[in-house]
Amino acid sequence: MTDPLDLDAFRENGHQLIDWIADYLGGLESRPVVEPVSPGDVRAKLPATAPQTAEPFSAMLRDLDEIVVPGLTHWQHPGWFGYFPAMSSPPAILGELAAAGLGVQGMLWSTSPAVTEIESHVLDWLVDLTGVPQKWKTTGPGGGVIQMSASDSTHTALVVAREECRKRTGAPAEQMVAYTSSQTHSSLEKGGNVAGYGHVRLLDVDERFSARPESLRAAIDADIAAGLTPAFVCAAVGTTGTTAVDPVRAFGEIAAEFDLWFHIDAAYAGAAMLCEEFRHHQDGLELVDSYTFNAHKWLATNFDCSIFWVADRTPLIQTLSILPPYLRNAASESGSVIDYRDWHVPLGRRFRALKLWFVLRSFGVEGLQALIRSHVAMANDFTTWVEAHPKLELFAPTVFGLICFTHVDGNDATGALADRINAAGPVYVTPSVIDDKRFIRVSIGSTWTETRHVDGLRDLIQSLL
Ligand SMILES: *Cc1c(COP(=O)(O)O)cnc(C)c1O
Repeated sequence: MTDPLDLDAFRENGHQLIDWIADYLGGLESRPVVEPVSPGDVRAKLPATAPQTAEPFSAMLRDLDEIVVPGLTHWQHPGWFGYFPAMSSPPAILGELAAAGLGVQGMLWSTSPAVTEIESHVLDWLVDLTGVPQKWKTTGPGGGVIQMSASDSTHTALVVAREECRKRTGAPAEQMVAYTSSQTHSSLEKGGNVAGYGHVRLLDVDERFSARPESLRAAIDADIAAGLTPAFVCAAVGTTGTTAVDPVRAFGEIAAEFDLWFHIDAAYAGAAMLCEEFRHHQDGLELVDSYTFNAHKWLATNFDCSIFWVADRTPLIQTLSILPPYLRNAASESGSVIDYRDWHVPLGRRFRALKLWFVLRSFGVEGLQALIRSHVAMANDFTTWVEAHPKLELFAPTVFGLICFTHVDGNDATGALADRINAAGPVYVTPSVIDDKRFIRVSIGSTWTETRHVDGLRDLIQSLL
């Protein structure tokens, strides 16, 4: 009989699982990126009812191979050029496992002080590492917190902005307006709807897909004239479609002029700021109220690990703090500790900082910079090849690790090329559309992608043209 609480068995099973993960990661290259699965295929392999009696761990390991892996899209595959990277790495996996092993809740400082203090400290390190304003540190007026996703961070910013606007103007949320680029991630519109904003304005963009400050000002003027109340402005540093960068300083100056909350969505590109040569893209951060970037995209840390910084934590805590009697404690009442439950919607929170701490220490800053720079160099080489190719055309400038291109023969040829690339494998690219123009996104940033994999993609495309 298998005792699920037997620690010797746990030790043995754990070693086997680590071996299994290493084999999985090491063997990805020989698998397709996207396993062929039809709806219901996975469930058809599962028993109709839960097991009445204990099963051995070997049965679960077997089903990882037989049921789980054949039902996956392999985001850690070196041929992963789809969407954006969702990086993971051995140190992150071990940090995640350690967090599960500890099984603590970090909702209050007092419910596990190390969870809060390591999180605050690691995010303060990242302030220095990414060159964002010093006042965003928890040792200053601002501070950072790890959220589940950039969507949560942005939603939180929208809620705080709504309350600040209500205090300032007395306007109801239905009258409030949030402004963002037409190229911004859908999480902005969703967050605005969930937070009760009456309007989310999508601003038009220039030929590089960056939102125009004139459009922002014109939209604000028109809304004020119509009796509405502007409340929130978002600039994207790296849009999801093409990694376009909105003019942070120009947007920030307009937001300041009208006393609006100013948020930056750098979900993907924030990681690049570890390398100084990219920081000019976010010049103007002293005008920013909140900022989000996903360590779980391009910083070798597995999901979930979205970083959210505020320049001033007071409005955030005022908006989200509700204190029932069972959560009262001396440390919180002393005002000398951070209680992260007041920094987001959930109460319970796990030890997500552990994996980020392990990653920063295992790679070192130089290791992470080298990783990002290697992806960018591969992207630049690929861009040069596209530009020189008579049948391909760049669709948007390559700013970070994403290349967007089309077939010169137009939409149908571009769509067919994307389909043929993905059918040939073992690579995966994302077909996309902006303003009825189809293009192919090649995102270089998987942990295991090397030059030879990008060369392989290039050779494949060449053979299909
Ligand atoms: C990926 C992405 C998001 C959403 O991130 P989640 O963490 O999945 O919510 C938001 N904005 C941008 C620019 C993104 O690239």
